[in-house]
Amino acid sequence: MSTIKAIAENYQTFNPAAYLQNNYVPPRADFSNPDSVVPWKLKCLADACASGEIGGQILVDIDSGPTVYQVLSAFELFKEVILTDFLAVNREELKKWLHDEPGAFDWGPSINQVCSIEGKGEPWQAKQKRLRERVSRVIPVNVHQSCPLGTELAPVTVDALVSSFCLEACSPNYPAFVKALGNITGLLKPGGHVLMIGALEESYYMAGEARLSAVSLTEEMTRKAYDVGYIIRDFRSYTLPESMTVDTDDAKGVSFVWAQKKESD
Ligand code: SAM
Repeated sequence: MSTIKAIAENYQTFNPAAYLQNNYVPPRADFSNPDSVVPWKLKCLADACASGEIGGQILVDIDSGPTVYQVLSAFELFKEVILTDFLAVNREELKKWLHDEPGAFDWGPSINQVCSIEGKGEPWQAKQKRLRERVSRVIPVNVHQSCPLGTELAPVTVDALVSSFCLEACSPNYPAFVKALGNITGLLKPGGHVLMIGALEESYYMAGEARLSAVSLTEEMTRKAYDVGYIIRDFRSYTLPESMTVDTDDAKGVSFVWAQKKESD
């Protein structure tokens, strides 16, 4: 049985470039295919953000990895956006994109897709520029600590959290997953919102040489984790069609949760 320590060691060989190639280019990010999974994720996030209920001063993306697609709608609703990741290689990858350095991943197609969903006729380059300006910091995170951002943010609590494919990908079992959710909940103001995307029934994924084990979650387990402290505002699931399966993970689907932290328990 795996442990938090063994998982952390395993992550040391995580390869951001390989991870991006496995998940954020076609077929998984094919904007001409209505069945493609990245467009599905972007639509879920955009719909929640269009509700008019989410917004405020600070948005924290818990465990950005080397990706920014997960904040493309939400960042517009906050004055400041903080990106985070456990690994220095991922924080460097994010900074490469933020500074528009050579070799940075091209998020243009995803940004263009979000502009189409939002329907304001805005050129995607304008959104890209705004996001780069809105991100104030890229900092370390460890969701297994009671203060996942250490002293970087304490004692401030924030208006919203985004997190995608994090908790199930770094927890050894379901109780640890639920505990990690509790830890990040501590960062959120009462009444604050969390937008969470996660894998369904995934036991492992690859990122170059790294083979990372994941807690295999059903829809029911995913929902149940929010029983303590949250009201679920929207829950959606996506079953990966044959055309979206790749040989670098065994995920069967993806979940989307929009949850609001209760004012008091
Ligand atoms: N958010 C990205 C996405 O949507 O594709 C990347 C998710 S990637 C599957 C999982 C991430 O978990 C990696 O970026 C890794 O650095 C991070 N991670 C590993 N251990 C962690 C920990 N203890 N606390 C927070 N994040 C951790």
